[in-house]
Parts: sequence; structure tokens; C-alpha cells
Amino acid sequence: MPYDAAETRYDTMAYRRVGRSGLLLPAVSLGLWHNFGEGTALETQRAILRRAFDLGVTHIDIANNYGPPPGSAETGFGEVLRTDLKPYRDELVIATKAGYRMWPGPYGEWGSRKYLLASLDQSLARTGLDYVDIFYSHRPDPDTPLEETMGALASAVQQGKALYVGISSYSPEQTREAARILAGLGTPLLIHQPRYSMFDRWVEDGLLDALDEVGAGSIAFSPLEQGILTDRYLDGIPEGSRAAGSSPFLSAEQVQATLGRVRALDELARSRGQSLAQLAVSWVLRGGRVTSALVGASSVAQLEANVAAVADLEFADDELAMIEDALAA
Ligand code: NDP
Repeated sequence: MPYDAAETRYDTMAYRRVGRSGLLLPAVSLGLWHNFGEGTALETQRAILRRAFDLGVTHIDIANNYGPPPGSAETGFGEVLRTDLKPYRDELVIATKAGYRMWPGPYGEWGSRKYLLASLDQSLARTGLDYVDIFYSHRPDPDTPLEETMGALASAVQQGKALYVGISSYSPEQTREAARILAGLGTPLLIHQPRYSMFDRWVEDGLLDALDEVGAGSIAFSPLEQGILTDRYLDGIPEGSRAAGSSPFLSAEQVQATLGRVRALDELARSRGQSLAQLAVSWVLRGGRVTSALVGASSVAQLEANVAAVADLEFADDELAMIEDALAA
């Protein structure tokens, strides 16, 4: 069936300014790391992407290596773009990244100019896009001069292949330095993509301050701790879940180790009238320091539940204190 986007798509989503830029991002964005590779039916991918756009999720986050196999998330997205979303291209902010291993040999990963610009060309070919909205250095490269990596990002913008640039998982010091170099090249640092959740709070130790200083925004990845901070594992490890599957990134042991704290947080969420997933999303967005929460979803129902968090982003002081107690237990 041809796709007609919902007329209500901008009615409920909140849009937040990215640092001191002109760009707004939805408070909840959708990432295609898992559930958008060859193992997921294209119809499922299409349904999640359509529903996301209908709910005002205008930002889709991808990377060269998402799949599996690497590249297939971009290919699948490109197919849905072609059949469904193309008429809405100017209403979408699409990001991709390069940094992790993508092809064999010395030029297939990290942060050289050689790798980054070749990878961006490949991403454009796989998605069928003329340009991406945001191009990221996916991880800092200890062996490549930062001037070279940032220079490649700035070139991508000068070549018209990206509108904005970002960095992911850079330390506060690396972030300040990256922003300084980019400013000198006339391409401001738009955004940083760090991991951030109730269980992983490293950004509070200097990164958010550095971003305020340089005027960049932030988008928190894995705010649900890959599903741990939801009701997904409260009654065991269901078939088809990330922890049950072949993903090397989430194990049953990790799930078990956190269950006590997760149950306490689940109760707190209910007392606020939210699900645990919604509490987790709202919590990373509290106080407005993080621009957007970047969630994954393996179904339309999960996506809808996460987007609904936007209805309640405020926390009373005693609620925040109770969350701290639950996390410290
Ligand atoms: P999340 O923490 O949001 O975890 C998503 C997973 O949680 C889903 O796949 C699903 O697991 C489960 N889930 C989601 N919503 C619900 C719900 N409402 N109820 C129950 N379970 C739910 O994020 P991800 O780890 O997927 O990362 C999100 C995005 O962040 C990625 O797609 C990517 O774009 C980006 N990212 C960036 C990285 C970087 O280095 N820059 C690294 C990692 C991610 P299940 O599949 O079991 O159903």
C-alpha cells in the first residue's frame, strides 16, 4: 500500500534545539543498529519506520556497519526511503557514521581521511541519498591526528555530502579539541553521540559541561540499556529478545546482574504512571541537557511506548532522589 504520512505527525512530539545550531531534533530519535539488518523482514522495518515518522520521529540514526551484515541497515533503509519516505526527505534528518571496521585492509576502519570519505560515498550509494544530514566520526582514533579526522568531516560538508558533523564516544578533552579544530575549518561541531542511561552516567563527569561550553548538542544512545531498562526481562529472557539472540553486545549474565535494581525502578516508574522504558527515556532527557534520546525498537509497539515518554519529561526532586536510591542499592 502506498504510504501517506499521518497529518497528525507533528502534534505530540517535542523538538529540541541541538546546541547553538539552527537544527531541532525530536526528543526521541530512532536508531537502526539492531533489528534493521537482513535478519529482520523488510515489512517489519518498513512498519517501524512509517510509524516513527507518523509520530514525529524525524531523526533516523544509522552507521556504515549496522546490520548484520555491515551495510544492510543502510540498504534496507534506502529501500524504505525509495518506496515510502522519499517525498518526505526534507522533513527527515538522517545520520550515518564511520569509525568501526567496514571493509578489509588498513583503510576500512578508524579515522583517516581515506577511510571516512570513502565510507561516506558507500553510505550514500547504499541509502540512495544525495547527502546525509549528519556525518559522524563513530569513535576517536588514537593513531590519526584529530586535524585529519575533523578535516575529513569538514570536507564532507564542503563537498555537499553532509550538512552537519558529529562525533561519538569522544572524551570531554577530545570533544573540546575537535570543536576547536572544526570551528577553525568553518564547520561547527553540531552534536556528540555518547552512551547514556541510568546505568551508564559517564557523560555527567565532564562531557555535558564540555558540550555546553562549545555549543554542541547531544544524543544519548542505548538509553534503555539495550532493553534492560524496560519490562523485557522482568520475567526471564524471552525468545527473540536481544539477550536471547546472537548479539555479542548483551548477555543473559548482564541482564541477571541488574535485575534487583531494575525491579525497584519498575515500581518507581509505575508510581509515576509510566512504564520503565518511558521512565528511562524521560530520565535522560530531564532538565534539557541532552537533546534527544536515541532508542532502538524491534516492533511498532515498542517504538510507540518509547515515544509516549515525551508526554512526561518532568521529575519532582523526591522522584529523582528515589531513583538515585534505587540505583545505589
Ligand atoms: P536501546 O537502549 O533503546 O535498546 C533497544 C532495545 O531495547 C530494542 O531492540 C528492544 O530489544 C528493547 N526495547 C526497546 N523499547 C522497548 C520497550 N518499550 N519495551 C521493551 N523492550 C524494549 O538502544 P540500542 O542499544 O538499540 O541503541 C539505540 C541506537 O543508538 C542504535 O540503534 C544506534 O543508532 C545508536 N547506537 C550508537 C552507538 C555508537 O557507538 N554511537 C552504539 C550503540 C547504539 P529487543 O530487540 O530485545 O526487542
